[in-house]
Amino acid sequence: MSTFKRNVCFSCGRPVAPYENAVHFPCPQCGDVEIWRCERCRAMGKTYKCLKCEFEGP
Ligand SMILES: [Zn+2]
Ligand SMILES: [Zn+2]
Repeated sequence: MSTFKRNVCFSCGRPVAPYENAVHFPCPQCGDVEIWRCERCRAMGKTYKCLKCEFEGP
């Protein structure tokens, strides 16, 4: 899993810049995957999907 070094928004697939007001948190279901959401997707309320357990959340 060393290919996932960059933080990519789980909603739009865009790389998250360090200066952005993005959020990251462990997956609410499996807790194994760090979910990233960029500023824009947060504002638009887009859904994300966990890579491991496929949990979908707002
Ligand atoms: Zn995004
Ligand atoms: Zn998960």
